[in-house]
Amino acid sequence: MMTQDLNLLSNDAFRARWRGWLEQNYPAEWRIPIIRRLAGDEERRWHRMTYEAGWRAPAWPKQYGGLGLSLEKQLILNEEMERHRCARVLDSGGVLLAPVLMKYGTDAQRSRYLPAILRGEDLWCQGYSEPNAGSDLASLRTSAVRDGEAFLVNGQKIWTTLAGCADRIFVLVRTNKEVKKQAGISFLLADMDTPGLTVRPILNLADEDELCEVFFENVRIPAENLVGALDQGWTVAKALLGDERISNGAPTLPRQAFEVLEQLIETRGLAEDAGVTDRAASLFCDVHDLAALHSQVADAAIRGEVDNAVLGMMKVLATEAFQDISEEILNVIDEDAGLQSPTIGAESPLDLRKIYMIARPSTIYAGASEVQRNIVSNALMGKS
Ligand SMILES: Cc1cc2nc3c(=O)[nH]c(=O)nc-3n(C[C@H](O)[C@H](O)[C@H](O)COP(=O)(O)OP(=O)(O)OC[C@H]3O[C@@H](n4cnc5c(N)ncnc54)[C@H](O)[C@@H]3O)c2cc1C
Repeated sequence: MMTQDLNLLSNDAFRARWRGWLEQNYPAEWRIPIIRRLAGDEERRWHRMTYEAGWRAPAWPKQYGGLGLSLEKQLILNEEMERHRCARVLDSGGVLLAPVLMKYGTDAQRSRYLPAILRGEDLWCQGYSEPNAGSDLASLRTSAVRDGEAFLVNGQKIWTTLAGCADRIFVLVRTNKEVKKQAGISFLLADMDTPGLTVRPILNLADEDELCEVFFENVRIPAENLVGALDQGWTVAKALLGDERISNGAPTLPRQAFEVLEQLIETRGLAEDAGVTDRAASLFCDVHDLAALHSQVADAAIRGEVDNAVLGMMKVLATEAFQDISEEILNVIDEDAGLQSPTIGAESPLDLRKIYMIARPSTIYAGASEVQRNIVSNALMGKS
């Protein structure tokens, strides 16, 4: 394991070291931009590799085994991963849950769960949304009733990404029906193999089963797995995201999709087609504007200034640009869009239809576009 403090390196030296490590160690078969996401054992392997090489958990403080990197250096890590065409990784345990455990968890919870997340032994999934509680999450109804040394949990979660290969789930439950809806929610941790907990995959447009329903039927969750105080889960849940929100509006996917569009225009001999090039130029400007905004927001965040409305606007711009480009890719390949797996050329592993399928839900998760627009307009009109 690397013991040197990476924060002491200049940005250029740091970038060169990370780039060199990726070039030496990153598995070639994972380098399929946009459509490749590491899941299950592949994700475990990635966390273990980075842990052993001293690159795991850039944002975690050192006292918990992370790198304690400045935001500036974390952003360099992301830029180099984009440049190297690395696969996407969800890391719900490391990115979403760990900061919550550090802030609200007990010592026992921290020492039980954080090391296993670091080493890639435990993968977590996020059990927030329910069939009638998505944007309006506080309406959630999965109930937890105290029964001796445990909570008895009943209800259903939905759209739980990668629940099928997760070891554990963090879940929001209703523990009090008598108070205002936000005030009666608690935050629990559960093992996926707890009796009564079942996962049912939902096939998506691409025929993949990353999304799942998770059912709780008289599931006994030990009372010691409550994070934060009883009925205070809303505060815990809202604290999930910090600087990571910047990545929701990152230009990575639109930029990579635009590169694909450019290659297609070239290989299909459409560079002289005024209609195609006109649309491509407009999309190029969208990506360029987004990248400029993202770097401005990142600079502000490095100075400690985070503006929720701007983050919301950036998420809308990034995901809508991604969708527009993915649609234009299908336009450009014309009737081939009806094929099972159209690609740029015979050698390419990049299924072009999957780009479209991955872009479609991006305006829904992590705060739907309409909800983000509400946040932006409320901020503009001076409402909280
Ligand atoms: C790919 C994917 C992965 C996901 N992964 C997870 C996960 O791992 N864990 C998890 O807990 N959840 C996950 N979700 C769920 C996601 O958080 C919800 O889909 C999202 O919050 C929207 O909720 P909903 O689907 O219930 O839609 P609804 O909230 O019912 O919204 C339906 C429509 O109404 C609009 N709308 C809702 N409220 C308003 C309003 N106030 N003003 C204007 N328009 C409004 C929405 O924008 C949307 O267009 C995932 C979703 C997707 C698509």
